[in-house]
Amino acid sequence: MQVLFTPWRYPYLTAPKSAAPQPCIFCVAADSDDVRGTLTLYRSRQALVMLNKYPYTNGHLMIAPIAHEARLFESSDASLMALIRLTAEAQRILSDVYRPEGFNVGMNFGQIAGAGVADHYHMHIVPRWGGDTNFMSVTAQTRLVPEDLNVTFDKLVPHFEGIVSQA
Ligand SMILES: [Zn+2]
Repeated sequence: MQVLFTPWRYPYLTAPKSAAPQPCIFCVAADSDDVRGTLTLYRSRQALVMLNKYPYTNGHLMIAPIAHEARLFESSDASLMALIRLTAEAQRILSDVYRPEGFNVGMNFGQIAGAGVADHYHMHIVPRWGGDTNFMSVTAQTRLVPEDLNVTFDKLVPHFEGIVSQA
């Protein structure tokens, strides 16, 4: 198994875990008027799309239901449909904007399975390129440089504005 080396995630991984309950980032994004501050690219009645603040690669998105639910079987059919519809739209948009060579798309349930937010499920979609797993190697020319999140946001948000009626 190849492991993505992502030094820009280090602040996230080493941040002290607060004892106080943290607000759910997906519920905050669902309610907030500050779409840029919450990195929210798209929001419908059923689901939302946001940038991962600590991306594995440029364009790493998360798609979550609006409802605070931990498991797929707790969700309504409408939420499930919206989630997979938005995942498809996100894959199309990322394909157009970033031209990746592949994708990882998936979900983690529970902290034991690697979920960073365990009680509000979400789909990850991670664009992949050849060389993104070993970019600290001698092949420096293939190195993947993390893009500023504001740049990613500005690139993607106009594309999501065009899908308003679909999900
Ligand atoms: Zn939540």
